[in-house]
Amino acid sequence: MRYISTRGDAPTLSFEEAMLTGLARDGGLYVPEEIPTLDAQTIAAMAGQSYEEVAYTVMRPFVGETFTDVEFRDLIARAYAGFGHAARAPLVQLAPNHFLLELFHGPTLAFKDFAMQLIGQMFEAALTRSNSRVTIVGATSGDTGSAAIEAFRGLEAVDVFILYPHGRVSEVQRRQMTTPSEDNVHAIAVDGDFDTCQAMVKDMFNDFDFRDSVRLAGVNSINWGRVLAQVVYYFTAAVSLGTPQRKVSFTVPTGNFGDVFAGYVAKRMGLPIADLVVATNTNDILHRTLETGAYTKESVTPTISPSMDIQVSSNFERALFYAYGQDGGAVKAQMEDLKSGGFTVSQGAIDALRDTYLSGRASENETRAAITRYHARHGELLCPHTAVGTHVAEAHLGTVPMVTLATAHPAKFPDAVEAATGLHPPLPPRMGDLYDRPERITRAKDLDAVKSIITDRIAS
Ligand SMILES: *Cc1c(COP(=O)(O)O)cnc(C)c1O
Repeated sequence: MRYISTRGDAPTLSFEEAMLTGLARDGGLYVPEEIPTLDAQTIAAMAGQSYEEVAYTVMRPFVGETFTDVEFRDLIARAYAGFGHAARAPLVQLAPNHFLLELFHGPTLAFKDFAMQLIGQMFEAALTRSNSRVTIVGATSGDTGSAAIEAFRGLEAVDVFILYPHGRVSEVQRRQMTTPSEDNVHAIAVDGDFDTCQAMVKDMFNDFDFRDSVRLAGVNSINWGRVLAQVVYYFTAAVSLGTPQRKVSFTVPTGNFGDVFAGYVAKRMGLPIADLVVATNTNDILHRTLETGAYTKESVTPTISPSMDIQVSSNFERALFYAYGQDGGAVKAQMEDLKSGGFTVSQGAIDALRDTYLSGRASENETRAAITRYHARHGELLCPHTAVGTHVAEAHLGTVPMVTLATAHPAKFPDAVEAATGLHPPLPPRMGDLYDRPERITRAKDLDAVKSIITDRIAS
């Protein structure tokens, strides 16, 4: 299996190379040259299987020669062993034909653990084999950073540095980043906001001397390995609702479009998905684009669902690539226009996007009301991101079962949940001591400070 760039102008790579590289050299994102399909019999056989077994069947064709069958099974087993639920991604019924897919039973209580835990194992295995080491640097508004630190802590071949905006992540998120004591993982509190952190990471990748001297690598949401791991739970959820005999729809709380794009990959692999509904908060660039065809940047408004507060949605480029019939040149031209503020999707491409994706948006009041309502009527405490999803899903309920992805545990965003329900959601018992563990806080005021922290720590 080879991987090509969405902008059509970078070398084709193996799975291993695409995973370790992240962003393509032409600025594009890697996608498989062809999306493999699974027949109805193979999908039907997943009924009742373990999550790990389904994960192996779904992902194996994408991995090619990078790992042997035995190695790959072993990596999957290790990735999900630390989850707090035997089903890994259990399905809960909310109402007739409306279900919640709980993706928050991983070690940091958000769906990012599904991909990050596996990426951690795959990086370690590939790098150990070639006797090499990389330094992962990333910026986070909370969930990605905690998932990355948790996934890579204690591994031999990787150092991880996560930049987060000082004072602007929730206490649970900060503690998940600052309490791990292994010396290969580091959280750095930066003076500024998330954009400041992201700009610093970009600058480090563009500083080729620095980049080469520490062997920088990235694990942000554009990494193909992350998208791939998220394809699996679309299969487990649909199969437990009667697929392949029955179609299933999904509503996905969306920011960078990685999770919902994984649903598209599942559909292309043969999973009978009826609708994929993109749910946005007030930062609704994706909803506006699907309605109007115009993708235009606006400034970011902070919301109670911060992991969806985005100005541009990086994985949307992959959706565009398929909407343009895999024409890398067309994607490249649109991305050039984005530099000056936006672009308009062609009629053919917008029709293709609307064939695949529906969309909706939840205001802050609608999100709060959904948290209150789902607690009062359905007995479920929802995190604010999930509440955006259920609000949007309600407009699309019908005869086809709808699955809304629950992207984080309510205890990860306790203030919003308490304000809407009067209840303070407790952390699961297995992490009940999070508030008692000692923190290591490292502050940095500018890019030079960040760079010297990185070079000092990897030298020691
Ligand atoms: C990252 C995240 C999202 C958005 O997912 P994308 O793949 O970026 O669209 C939604 N909810 C939560 C809790 C997240 O952490």
